[in-house]
Amino acid sequence: MAIGIEANPGAEPVARRDQAVRAAVEQGLVGPADPLIALLDIAGIRASAGALRSAFAEVTAAPVLHAFAVKAGPLVPVLRLLRQEGIGAEVASPGELALAAAAGVKPAHTVLDSPAKTPAELRHALALGIAVNADNRQELARLDALVGSAPTRSPLGLRVNPQIGAGSIDALSTATPTSKFGIGLRDEGARAWVIQAFLDRPWLTRLHTHTGSQGIPLELMAQGVRATYELAEEINARIGRRQIDTLDIGGGLPVNFASDEESPTYATYARLLAREVPGLFTGAYGLVTEFGRSLLAKHGTIVARVEYTKTSGGRPIAITHAGAQVAARTVYAPASWPLRIAAYDAKGRPKAGPAVPQDVAGPACFAGDLLAENHPLPLLEPGDYAAALDTGAYYFAHHYAYNSLVRPGIYGFSTTADGVRFATVRTPQTVDELVTESGGEHARALDGI
Ligand SMILES: *Cc1c(COP(=O)(O)O)cnc(C)c1O
Repeated sequence: MAIGIEANPGAEPVARRDQAVRAAVEQGLVGPADPLIALLDIAGIRASAGALRSAFAEVTAAPVLHAFAVKAGPLVPVLRLLRQEGIGAEVASPGELALAAAAGVKPAHTVLDSPAKTPAELRHALALGIAVNADNRQELARLDALVGSAPTRSPLGLRVNPQIGAGSIDALSTATPTSKFGIGLRDEGARAWVIQAFLDRPWLTRLHTHTGSQGIPLELMAQGVRATYELAEEINARIGRRQIDTLDIGGGLPVNFASDEESPTYATYARLLAREVPGLFTGAYGLVTEFGRSLLAKHGTIVARVEYTKTSGGRPIAITHAGAQVAARTVYAPASWPLRIAAYDAKGRPKAGPAVPQDVAGPACFAGDLLAENHPLPLLEPGDYAAALDTGAYYFAHHYAYNSLVRPGIYGFSTTADGVRFATVRTPQTVDELVTESGGEHARALDGI
């Protein structure tokens, strides 16, 4: 695929990040007493939301609902910020639906997609008028009963799996032949069954696909969208009217974790879709997208104080306060999820010095708790800060409660000529809260049982 000429917006975000880390240290947001925080670059998030909207506006005049996959960043103020930028919410659990509602996302801008919706969840969504994509035959049968028993404004669709194959990360590839998601279109008899399902249900008006997240090449994503579009055309032709009026093409734009460059861009993907699936953009279909990681990843930074340093077997090791609790994927699958680390000194200034390969370790009590292994960096010293970059999605907002480490505070920042302003996105968890969450009020429950 030809990557068009794209501006490299790298430099500006790096300067903002450096300014924010320095200010966080100077203002005492992070330090000896609070050795771990996470930062979100609000201007960066706004820019990504704008880039997404304009990328699709450039290729189509059809109505497009961009629904942020809440899974990627389940933080109410972030959902509200995205809402202000014209982005809705894709939710996949009662919790995510509640977060979207708390952020003020309207039902008309919300899409429910989970593979294990209970009858109560379905009834609730239909009562609110939220769009629902059924995952499987049994769920469609539940919708039959619900639609028959009460009128609903919910647009209803069916998730299909074009079974076009995996990307480079198996755990995130949803379009494999045996994926747990949707109806596998290439399975024996499945296509005919799907067509009949639409013929039998005049209220079924959407097709949904999401071919996977990080690791799926753009071409494969476009193939999945094309297969879904072609199925919609076939169904509408069989029915003799445009019963399917909206296509939900999922999310999954990969993120570059190797440098500050934002690539691929939404514009590149939208143009590829326009080339590969031109019918998508004629206005015959409304569109829904469900991007998650690509809206937030580059705009998040974990800042962890270096508590101690040592060498072991000749390897320099920095022991920091960020590990599996904020970077579970990287710690457990480092080959699939390498992170860039930036070194800052005790005053929060970018650290200078020759690059020395070293391990950046976390606080958890198991050997694999490393943010980076043998990573070349200016040699970290106690009191310095290690920053894990590109962690705005699926990292610090996805706390893993190992070793009862508290959830760190998350702060949004904006930079001006006068300095850096911080706003609390999530309050740091206290140890008392952690005790309560861990059964504290049931302390004696097992005494006499
Ligand atoms: C996870 C998911 C998304 C978002 O994927 P990203 O890779 O974060 O863009 C979108 N749609 C569905 C159905 C998902 O499961």
